[in-house]
Amino acid sequence: MMDGKFDNDIQAVVDADRAHVWHHLIQHKPFETGEPRVIVEGKGMKVWDQKGKEYLDAVSGAVWTVNVGYGRESIADAVRDQLVKMNYFAGSAGSVPGALFSEKLIEKMPGMSRVYYCNSGSEANEKAFKMIRQIAHKKYGGEKHKILYRDRDYHGGTLAAMSAGGQDERNMQYGPFAPGFVRVPHCMEYRKEELGLGHLSGRDFGIAAANLIEDVILREGPETVGGLCLEPVTAGGGVITPPEGYWDRVQEICRKYDILLHIDEVVCGIGRTGTEWFGYQHYGIKPDFVTMAKGVASGYAAIACCVTSEAVFDLFKSDPSDKMDHFRDISTFGGCTAGPAAALENMRIVEDEGLLENCAKMGERFMANLQALMDKHDVIGDVRGKGLFLGAELVKDRSTKEPVTEADVGAVVAECGNLGVIIGASNRSIPERNNVLCFSPALIVTAQEVDAITDAVDKALTKVFG
Ligand code: PMP
Repeated sequence: MMDGKFDNDIQAVVDADRAHVWHHLIQHKPFETGEPRVIVEGKGMKVWDQKGKEYLDAVSGAVWTVNVGYGRESIADAVRDQLVKMNYFAGSAGSVPGALFSEKLIEKMPGMSRVYYCNSGSEANEKAFKMIRQIAHKKYGGEKHKILYRDRDYHGGTLAAMSAGGQDERNMQYGPFAPGFVRVPHCMEYRKEELGLGHLSGRDFGIAAANLIEDVILREGPETVGGLCLEPVTAGGGVITPPEGYWDRVQEICRKYDILLHIDEVVCGIGRTGTEWFGYQHYGIKPDFVTMAKGVASGYAAIACCVTSEAVFDLFKSDPSDKMDHFRDISTFGGCTAGPAAALENMRIVEDEGLLENCAKMGERFMANLQALMDKHDVIGDVRGKGLFLGAELVKDRSTKEPVTEADVGAVVAECGNLGVIIGASNRSIPERNNVLCFSPALIVTAQEVDAITDAVDKALTKVFG
């Protein structure tokens, strides 16, 4: 711990946690004998658990969220000031931080125009799905209602978001799902054999991978397909950067068949990929919808946004005599002012501290480090990523690309933890895909810290694989 003091009796906290908290993602059986981990404090890149053990956090709060690092007093102050003045009002009314943050955000997103506030990435995605469905009703009598999503992409844990879920293990035992969501193939060059495109590489591969989307559209009937939802760089599905030529062709296909493009920036948004504010901005993408959550307020308050173009917004105000003219939706906590107040200060920090640039620079260093690790460890089959959003795919054999076991991936993650570095792994896909180590440190990370993370990974790989 930083100051060695707790405000609470920590054993009582751990006991209460073990007795009553249902933790995300994990099986609870081990807690019957072992202790759950409770994170009690954070500062900058570091966090401390209940035992006072210090960790360097290489995953920004487990799931690529705390972009500006821990313990930011200026965000806490901005939220406090806002809350004592006006904490909440929903429905048709706006708020001061809501208006100011949307103006700032739209400045960073040329071509986009309107911000719809809600609470989580899943919810933001569902707002976009509902808007796409409503546009189908307004313009096409409901026929053009299908939404395409991609194998290995993830869009959230609510049922419609899961219906657009490309990670099968997450969906097991929760069906049936919502109709009208159709899967398209992934675009991962490292596993191009799965796509039947093993003979292609570079731009030829990228274009062919995008054409697989067109095949699905033609199979379903273009008159039934209204939207395409994609992550610019796939996150939990294995850190998949798009191949060259992919996005240009995807956009051509969307234009050809009048399909709305929804970009899920829940992970990539607010600088994670370096240099640009959003992942899509690296690839010349002109989206109709952009959804974001995690890094928007770095976890200091819950906030998510579904951002649309003015053309989309216009469709919802065009005919006041039609009772379906507006978006018939509300998000109760979309009226919380803590979110946009925190987001405004978060954005100021990213700008004033040059974090887009630091992210690009440290991302390059991290990538070079991972490439060097590849020379040393045969178990690393591929390294991928953009900015501080990186992955290392672990395989038993580089020529067959057979994935290592989930247990071995877990052992690497656990050993890094023992060494005081928290890293992540792709998960909840199918077991054979849970073999990618994931790294997403806060955008404030220093060169020394990048090297320390790499060093822990090096040691952990040696321990687990020799
Ligand atoms: N989209 C992506 C790309 C995500 O990674 C996630 C969460 N990991 C979500 C959506 C869902 O966000 P939330 O958990 O805030 O609902």
